[in-house]
Amino acid sequence: SHLSEKSSINELKSKIKELNENDLVDGILLQLPLPMGLDEGLLLKDIDPKKDVDGLHAYNLGCLLKKEDGPRCCTPAGIMALLSRNGFKVEGKRAVVIGRSILVGQPMALMLQAANATVTVAHSKTKNLASLTKQAEIVVVAAGQPNMIGKEHLSKGSVVIDVGIHRIIKTSGKASLCGDVRFQEVEPFVQAITPVPGGVGPMTVAMLLVNTVN
Ligand code: NDP
Repeated sequence: SHLSEKSSINELKSKIKELNENDLVDGILLQLPLPMGLDEGLLLKDIDPKKDVDGLHAYNLGCLLKKEDGPRCCTPAGIMALLSRNGFKVEGKRAVVIGRSILVGQPMALMLQAANATVTVAHSKTKNLASLTKQAEIVVVAAGQPNMIGKEHLSKGSVVIDVGIHRIIKTSGKASLCGDVRFQEVEPFVQAITPVPGGVGPMTVAMLLVNTVN
């Protein structure tokens, strides 16, 4: 459903109610971020947890915390799939997650922990970030800061997952996308790194379909 940017919270609530009640609808995704003035928290909690393909309803986040079945948040679930499909074992590894949002950082840390990694969560108040990330074998960067992470933060052999995605306007006036990691600088140095675009983004979409099918 494409709704106007000027939709009121009540219009959105009644749309969600209608979709909840429609047996032909298997999954509901509230596309974030919402336009200014709309509180996503009030709307996410209205989505039927069984149709919550984004895994962001408090009930489903609780299931993740308690290791119970349920739809999992798509971006971190996509990252877990990406690691395992590429043969990177998580168990026993030291992992640093940069970012602690409900959308990415927090569920990522829970999923890595559930897979038996030892996890540190860094955020904007973390001191000496590089000393933490240098010790990590898996570094998930979800800070939302373009080109923030470079070689000085990483050690050889680390596996780097770049969640950030930013539209940058070059001096030539052309737009291009970049991540939170300086890809050109880091890629020859580390064991593996996801590109932006074409890494975490498509995996997120794939996990939405996984949740819908499940
Ligand atoms: P938020 O802005 O909600 O969270 C960013 C987190 O990073 C916060 O916890 C913040 O800390 C932390 N942070 C900010 N600056 C620093 C810093 N300098 N050092 C350490 N930590 C820092 O963003 P999201 O989690 O929603 O998204 C992160 C990025 O991932 C964005 O670029 C977003 O566009 C992208 N994204 C990509 C997706 C994809 O499918 N590819 C899906 C979802 C997001 P604090 O809590 O202290 O403020």
